[in-house]
Amino acid sequence: MIPAAYALLNLDALTHNLQVAKQHAPDAKIMAVIKANAYGHGLLRVAEVLRRQVDAVAVARVDEGVRLRKAGFDKPVTVLEGFVCADELKLLDQYGLDAVIHCFEQIEMLRQRHGPGKISVWLKLDVGMNRLGFKGADFHQAYRHLRQCFGINQPPRLITHLAYADDLNDSRTSPQVALFNEAVKDYPGERSVANSAAILGWPDALADWVRPGIMLFGCSPFVDREAWQLNLKPVMSLHSRLIAVKPLAAGEAVGYGGDWVCEKATRLGVVAIGYGDGYPRYAKSGTPVLVNGKVVPMVGRVSMDMITVDLQSQPDAKPGDPVTLWGEGLAIEKIAMAADTIPYTLLCGITQRVQIIER
Ligand code: PLP
Repeated sequence: MIPAAYALLNLDALTHNLQVAKQHAPDAKIMAVIKANAYGHGLLRVAEVLRRQVDAVAVARVDEGVRLRKAGFDKPVTVLEGFVCADELKLLDQYGLDAVIHCFEQIEMLRQRHGPGKISVWLKLDVGMNRLGFKGADFHQAYRHLRQCFGINQPPRLITHLAYADDLNDSRTSPQVALFNEAVKDYPGERSVANSAAILGWPDALADWVRPGIMLFGCSPFVDREAWQLNLKPVMSLHSRLIAVKPLAAGEAVGYGGDWVCEKATRLGVVAIGYGDGYPRYAKSGTPVLVNGKVVPMVGRVSMDMITVDLQSQPDAKPGDPVTLWGEGLAIEKIAMAADTIPYTLLCGITQRVQIIER
C-alpha cells in the first residue's frame, strides 16, 4: 500500500551531484556536509552512499558524529560546531571525531585534556559572518596556542565560511576570500573555504578541501538559479495523492480563513499533505503542485494534513491520483520561492510522518 505522504529518494542522484562537485573542484578533497539528518534525507543512508566517494564528512553536532561512528562509519568526521564542554571533548576523543575550534574556551579545554590519542582540529577564521570563528589578531593568537597544545595532530587545518556566496553578484565575497588567504598565508595547514555556492560560483575559494552540502541533494544554493541549470538532480521527491475531488461554485471560499475565493466554478482537489508533514505553512495560493504529472495551483491556506488545489485544467482527476509536491518534475526552488523560504528548510523540515522510500 502506498503511504499518504512519502519522500522518494533517488540515491543515484546523490552520486551524480557529487560528481558535479568534483568537476568544479577537481584538485580538492571532498568533505560532504551531512548535518541535520543529511538535510532531511537520513544520515546513515546518505553516509553509506558517500562513504567510498568522499574524503570526509561533516556534521554540526557531536551526537551526529557519534551516531555515524556507532553505525560503523569509518571515514573522517568533522564536527562543525566543535565542542562546548569537557564531556563533548571526551566523546570526540572516544569516537575519533575532528573538531572545529572557534573560541578560546575550547583551546583551554584542549590544554586540560588527557586523552590518550591525538585529536585533529580545524581552526576557524571569521571573515565577516560574525557567527563562529576568531577574528583578526585573535586568530593568530589562537593559532599559536593550538600549536603549543599537546595531543593535537599538527599543524591545525584552517577553515572559514562565506556569508554571501549564494549571490553571485555580491561584491563582498571576493574580499572575504582574500581576507582568509591573507590571514593564513604563513601557516602550513590545509585550508577549506567553499560550501556549495562557492564550489559552483567562486573558483578562487576552492582551496584544499571543499564542503558541499545542499548541492549534493540536488538543490541550487543560489538565490536566482534552479538546480537543473547547474546540472544537479533532485535526490528527494515529495509525493502524496488526491483524497477528495469536489465541485466548487464561483464565489465560494476555501480552507481556514477563506483566504482564497473561487472566481469561476471549478473542481477542487484535496491533497493529503500539510505542514504536519513539512509542507511549508506559508506557501502562497498559486504555488505549483503536480497532479497526474501536470501543474495545477495550490489554493487557500496550507493546513496540518491537507492542501487544496484548483483542478480546473484536470477534468478527469479523481481521488487516489498521484501528486508531487517537489522534486523530479517540479523544482524545489519554485516551492521555496512561493513560500518565502529556501530549499534547505523544506528538506530539513520533512517530518517523521513522511515515509522515506529509496527508489
Ligand atoms: N560548511 C559549513 C561550515 C556549513 O555550516 C555548511 C552548511 O551550512 C556547509 C559548509 C555546507 O553549505 P551548503 O549546504 O550551502 O553547501
